[in-house]
Amino acid sequence: MNLRLPLFASAAILVTTAIAARNPTLADAKAFLKKAETQLLALSIDASRADWIKSTYIIDDSEAVAAKFDQAQIDATVRFAKESVLFDRLALPPAERRKIQLLKNSLTLATPSDPAESAEVTRLATSLEGAYGKGKYCPQPSKCLDLEDLGRIMANSRDPKELAEAWNGWHAIAKPLRQPYQRFNTLANKGARELGFADMGAMWRSKYDMPPDEFAKEIDRLWEQVKPLYVSLHAYVRNRLREKYGDSVVPADGPIPAHLLGNMWAQEWDNIYPLVAPKDADPGYDLTQILKSRHTEPLQMVRYGERFFTSLGFAPLPPSFWERSLFVKPRDRDVVCHASAWDVDLVDDVRLKMCIDITSEDFTTIHHELGHNFYQRAYNAQPFLFRDSANDGFHEAIGDTIALSVTPEYLVKIGLLQTAPDPSKDTGLLLRRALAKVAFLPFGLLIDQYRWKVFSGQIPPGEMNKAWWDLKLKYQGVAPPSPRIEADFDPAAKYHVAANVPYMRYFLADILQFQFHRALAKEAGCVGPLNRCSIYGNAAAGAKLNAMLRMGVSRPWQEALESMTGQRAMDASAIIDYFAPLKKWLDEQNAGKPIGWTK
Ligand code: ASP
Ligand code: ZN
Repeated sequence: MNLRLPLFASAAILVTTAIAARNPTLADAKAFLKKAETQLLALSIDASRADWIKSTYIIDDSEAVAAKFDQAQIDATVRFAKESVLFDRLALPPAERRKIQLLKNSLTLATPSDPAESAEVTRLATSLEGAYGKGKYCPQPSKCLDLEDLGRIMANSRDPKELAEAWNGWHAIAKPLRQPYQRFNTLANKGARELGFADMGAMWRSKYDMPPDEFAKEIDRLWEQVKPLYVSLHAYVRNRLREKYGDSVVPADGPIPAHLLGNMWAQEWDNIYPLVAPKDADPGYDLTQILKSRHTEPLQMVRYGERFFTSLGFAPLPPSFWERSLFVKPRDRDVVCHASAWDVDLVDDVRLKMCIDITSEDFTTIHHELGHNFYQRAYNAQPFLFRDSANDGFHEAIGDTIALSVTPEYLVKIGLLQTAPDPSKDTGLLLRRALAKVAFLPFGLLIDQYRWKVFSGQIPPGEMNKAWWDLKLKYQGVAPPSPRIEADFDPAAKYHVAANVPYMRYFLADILQFQFHRALAKEAGCVGPLNRCSIYGNAAAGAKLNAMLRMGVSRPWQEALESMTGQRAMDASAIIDYFAPLKKWLDEQNAGKPIGWTK
């Protein structure tokens, strides 16, 4: 297998040199794309298989093998992207032009042309993700806690000392990742530069069918739209946490200590809903309790998710999905537990990899992941280069859109709840959802605000941890539970930093999913408040969704968005409208109390 790659490369160079000697034609471009798509599809299947083994069985050997296959795939994509400049001045039909553009923009990591550096950067990428997957905190030599254990403490403990210990224990795993991460950056930036980008951040920003600077401005615009909603939620939660933990733990007008919000990264706060629930408007049910009391099994959790999609007219998941997925954390080996959805053969071999816990949080995550899998299958008839979402925010938004339809009425329909709470309980329902979706907005935004600056060098290597907390303070208004120093490397305690997964997609998805939900609810004829609309079982909404998913990335995302929502721009008015009644209520609760934060 190793032998094939250099052969492809040299043959390709001979052909392109011959074409360059005359003027390239449309036939040349088509032949070039055909070859690129055929070879990249094969390489990508090999890489996915090796990555699957590595992620479900982390040892040095599986990492080394996966790194080799990843390298082969990325090197080949880089080579094709470089060769494609041959066709830059040729007038091409839209599909061919778009494929060439996608070849250049599709990578999240570009390997440098130096083979040793290429091998090193792919090896670093796998070992950084592996180190995260293996991370443990061992309070005693005989007692080690993994991230799932620590996450349960963060979600359920109400003891600030215990919470701080779990937080510190996990963040310590990231410290040794700092040096390798810096080396990774240097090499990855080199690869991005060779492809013509200023740095890896510029490469990431170039994937949105608009100039990269304009994309950055879009993000700022969307954030300004939603910021007042976040600030209201922040102030309300801070006050309620002060009632719970007292002034000495939670300041009146300062940042909220990051370990008190129910989540390791303070990114979603719904686990502390019981601490902040409205006194007279609690919906009176807790999905985690319901699922647990029914002894729901992990596989049944996935079946609930699948059934939602089939109710919309999608075909059931194939038998291979049930045979090949990983639903439960194995007892005997390290795996990457961070949930992900896979598309191994880019046709039908879709899989879920997740260490499922019986909680409402994981119930939602399953819908999130299945959204990826149903998207993947919907676009599987597209040519290889178009088998992706309209933009990466779309991929992240589909399953979340479905999860927004997990309403009390839906839970009644599927037999998980006896009766739906009446409308007087909407404040509680909205608050619970806001703790997940509104709290997430600044977090979703800041990860790549941070990395863009790290990649460009605007954040110097000597300030990588300080800069992280400056941004956490600025956007989220949270502070670390213990003093941080530069030897720490807290960003890598978050999966997507260690694993080099771009994150702005989640911010986009947080906005887009409400836009999608609003459009689909309308299609389904729902006239009630949006938080009570569920598209479950609605064929018209399903058809509308499927029509967009089937497009893959064959057209600019603005067209995909328009086909479903009638709008060509991302629009935060949907999330704002959804939470408007809650915003009013929060502002009443906050009256006379400090809003916002100072240091
Ligand atoms: N649920 C995870 C998260 O969104 C993984 C994924 O993106 O599929 O990071
Ligand atoms: Zn996802």
